[in-house]
Amino acid sequence: MTKPKIVVLGAGYAGLTTTKRLTQQLSPEEAEIVLVNKHNYHYETTWLHEVAAGTINPNQARVMISDVVNPKRVRLIYDNVVKVKKDENIVVLENSEISYDYLVFALGFESNDFGIKGMDEHAFAIEDIDSSRLISEHIEYQFAKYKTEENPDENSLHILVGGAGFTGVEFVGELAEKVPELCKKYDIDRSKARIINVEAAPSILPMFDKDLVEYGKKSLEDRGVEFRIGAPISECTSEGFIVGDDDELIKAGTVVWTGGVKGSSVLEASGFELTKGKVNVDADLRMPGEDNLFVLGDCSWVWNKEEDRPYPPTAQLAMQEANVTARNIKALIYNQPLEDFVFKSKGTVASLGTTDGIGNVLDGRKLQGKAAAAMKKVVDNRSLFLIGGPKLLLKKGKVRPF
Ligand code: FAD
Ligand code: NAD
Repeated sequence: MTKPKIVVLGAGYAGLTTTKRLTQQLSPEEAEIVLVNKHNYHYETTWLHEVAAGTINPNQARVMISDVVNPKRVRLIYDNVVKVKKDENIVVLENSEISYDYLVFALGFESNDFGIKGMDEHAFAIEDIDSSRLISEHIEYQFAKYKTEENPDENSLHILVGGAGFTGVEFVGELAEKVPELCKKYDIDRSKARIINVEAAPSILPMFDKDLVEYGKKSLEDRGVEFRIGAPISECTSEGFIVGDDDELIKAGTVVWTGGVKGSSVLEASGFELTKGKVNVDADLRMPGEDNLFVLGDCSWVWNKEEDRPYPPTAQLAMQEANVTARNIKALIYNQPLEDFVFKSKGTVASLGTTDGIGNVLDGRKLQGKAAAAMKKVVDNRSLFLIGGPKLLLKKGKVRPF
């Protein structure tokens, strides 16, 4: 048998975990493994709201891939994936092409502005390390500039966040800590800097029970976050959002869109059949009709049969999919039957800054306050441990005091 070549696209939670599991399950004699990623580092996507607010350093959220994957075992290619030619088993990169016998497509998410006029042009988005760092640097620039101008624009210190789902709420939770720090640093009255979170739905974080939502909203309001609920954003201009039936313009010096995500645009560029921008995968996580192509993480819909809807895209889901995919690729190589993916939820926690949060955990228990914040850190540290073991946990783990 010629040695099969497995190509993994993306070193996020799904791709990196698949690669690590493959190296544990297949010897160098059994398969060649190639990992392709845009950068030479992996980042903890689940920490990006902290990078965007400036409450953690970008370097804390990123990990050199060669520190957690043995480059002697896995060929590492740092390049941009342009498209997949699935009928030819070829991946087109910006600088070369690569063939494969088995492909794992795990290029993650991109911000989805749903075609709202001006959003792409005028709003920042939390997508990766660079886009997140840009937000924190822009916010700090607004504060620094305000101090140097004779007649500064009062709106320049306002931060407008569009969408109060998980990302929006976790981001304003971090801003509630960062903004008072910036006010102190630049000697600016706290009342001049506003944090405004705009949401179209009648509630923030509707996936949580009402009591948890009320707790979270009040906690953030007490720390200076203003919510505009039931206020759909119809347009983004260079000045801010246009909101609601009366087209009110809310002005701000920093405008961030956290209104939703879609699968990588490489899916579309590859001509794949998509359902709402993602591949609706079979139970064994393969693209329908394709024997050798797995689609994971935020690029796929995986059906939750009990609730008759897809699972929400999360890191937790991506990492569990990776474990099954590695086993299924080994099964394919040895002509064994494939296993179906079954998701085991470990619960959900939303942080509201460093020391606060809300969540539902494994046994259906509700958490709020410091207990939820502590649980979030356990989850964050677990992900580091799974990727890089105790060494990485010691180097980058979250141990911030309460
Ligand atoms: P990603 O983590 O997005 O990784 C994709 C990888 O592919 C990246 O390394 C990227 O650089 C690379 N890549 C992308 N395009 C290309 C290209 N064209 N060529 C080469 N490489 C490319 N989920 C939870 O379970 N818990 C949480 O607490 C949580 N918090 C979150 C907080 C924030 C701010 C955000 C934005 C999301 C959060 N999520 C959370 C959701 C979770 O992060 C995603 O579901 C998860 O990252 C999906 O993993 P993935 O491997 O599919 O993609
Ligand atoms: P989301 O889709 O969960 O939330 C987007 C929010 O924006 C929604 O509340 C929506 O009503 C609102 N919105 C959309 N269009 C709008 C408009 N025109 N005007 C005003 N509001 C509008 O997206 P997200 O928060 O980016 O999360 C993406 C995925 O990542 C989710 O599946 C989530 O589960 C996951 N995530 C999880 C965590 C966590 O577990 N702690 C944290 C962040 C993200």
